[in-house]
Amino acid sequence: MRGGHATPKPDAERRTAVVVGGGISGLIAARELAAAGLAVTVLEASNAWGGCVGSHVVAGLRLDSGAESFATRSTAVADLARELGLADKIVAPHPGGAWVQLPDGPQELPKTGVLGIPANPWDPEVRRSLGLAGAIRASLDRWLPASVGTSSDVTSVSSLVRTRMGKRVLERLVSPVVGGVHSADPALLDVDMVAPALRAGIRTHGSLAAAVAAQRNAAKSSIAGAASAPAKAGSAVAGLRGGMNTLVDALVADLRERGVQLLSGQHARDVVKTQEGWQVAAGNATYDAGRLVVALDGPAAVGLLEKSLPELSRLRPAPGPLVSLVTMVVDLPQLDGRPRGTGILVAPETPGIKAKALTHATAKWDWLADEAGPGTHVLRLSYGRREQAGGGADLVLDDDSLLAAALEDASALLTVPVTQADIVDWDVVRWAGALPFAAVGHKQRVAQVRQLCAAAEGLTVVGGWLAGNGLAAVVADTRAQLGVERADGSPIL
Ligand SMILES: Cc1cc2nc3c(=O)[nH]c(=O)nc-3n(C[C@H](O)[C@H](O)[C@H](O)COP(=O)(O)OP(=O)(O)OC[C@H]3O[C@@H](n4cnc5c(N)ncnc54)[C@H](O)[C@@H]3O)c2cc1C
Repeated sequence: MRGGHATPKPDAERRTAVVVGGGISGLIAARELAAAGLAVTVLEASNAWGGCVGSHVVAGLRLDSGAESFATRSTAVADLARELGLADKIVAPHPGGAWVQLPDGPQELPKTGVLGIPANPWDPEVRRSLGLAGAIRASLDRWLPASVGTSSDVTSVSSLVRTRMGKRVLERLVSPVVGGVHSADPALLDVDMVAPALRAGIRTHGSLAAAVAAQRNAAKSSIAGAASAPAKAGSAVAGLRGGMNTLVDALVADLRERGVQLLSGQHARDVVKTQEGWQVAAGNATYDAGRLVVALDGPAAVGLLEKSLPELSRLRPAPGPLVSLVTMVVDLPQLDGRPRGTGILVAPETPGIKAKALTHATAKWDWLADEAGPGTHVLRLSYGRREQAGGGADLVLDDDSLLAAALEDASALLTVPVTQADIVDWDVVRWAGALPFAAVGHKQRVAQVRQLCAAAEGLTVVGGWLAGNGLAAVVADTRAQLGVERADGSPIL
């Protein structure tokens, strides 16, 4: 490092690495590099670690301000949590399950799906939601050849679901879930990014329903291995007692123990390739290292690297949508009965509701209900959904308007009046562009980005825009990207 900060000079004998971005992918990359013996510096623009795995305090409760659970379709996150000593903190959500608000009223969301795609169209919950004609159409999936929906002309989530299971599965089950998780219309999203391995599963298991069932079974066994396996292991997600943000605390503590230099408030603004490796300019300092990891969102990563790798410019992804979260802590014992289970997803065309989802956090996580105490509830409503390719349609409201909308939406969705007088405390958190927008064709773009970056010596690019949205994808992919190099015999340097 030159100028600015008086940071200790790394041991001249040790290979050096700079990681740009202190979100979950950057922190994991730093851990892998430190474990391989490198002297690592992490540069984070904000003053908080963890990126989208953030926290805030509302009414004295420390709550997740972004990610609040992880998918259990693989063991990636649970393995990391175990390594960090958090095995006994892994918890399943309350088994009550979630609901979906459709234009014709609320329905329980079937518990056996992946992204809302059912494992069995004749499951009573699914059958109720689809109606007889919808269930018959959905079960056609079993008789269609495995080639249907797995060819290269099926590219979006909606084309896969519509082709194999029909319109009602798409509109009544998949659109609300995809809107809630990815903040976008399923017609815009690359199926192989958003539903990884599902199309391969159709080829292996013969139908979409069977591929979904196989993923759900894998999820059960992945979480069953945890030290405190949840009593009911049927959930597709799990969380951590204390919130997902405690994973970041544990990672940061682990990195400090390993001697990693963690520098927050350091916005990287320039990167150049040097003879010895890479040089990053951030704040009023420059950082030299043999190894560079860029762990940012897609547009920021391309912006930082395009001077060194001009061909990256044409692969710049569209920015993700603006997502605004309104968290309200309310004193409202009428909600003790969990009127909508763990929460409710809203189908896009539902009249009169602006939110895309409501999480009843104290109904979802027992540890949080215990912390909040009887009669006190945590409600989180999310706003902002990409309905058109290319962006521009994000819902932008000021805090007070968002709170007004949240009170109105919560009252309608929970069928219990929620008023300003019930609020103990509230907060708004905005995530601008943090959710990657995996537009159709993104999977191919990812392969091209990876190819370009692999050709630049000493560079690794990681993060949700390449791995796919969600902690399960990001954790597994980041470790694979750094691990692969070691397994290949081309060591991390
Ligand atoms: C509101 C919300 C809710 C979510 N809920 C879930 C969930 O429940 N379960 C789940 O599995 N996933 C969830 N996700 C997705 C998941 O959180 C992300 O996929 C994952 O955290 C992305 O990690 P990342 O490291 O790729 O990126 P990020 O978390 O975006 O980290 C990037 C970091 O880089 C920093 N940075 C940006 N520019 C610079 C720069 N120039 N110099 C230095 N630093 C810079 C940023 O400040 C940030 O800290 C959610 C995401 C959001 C936004």
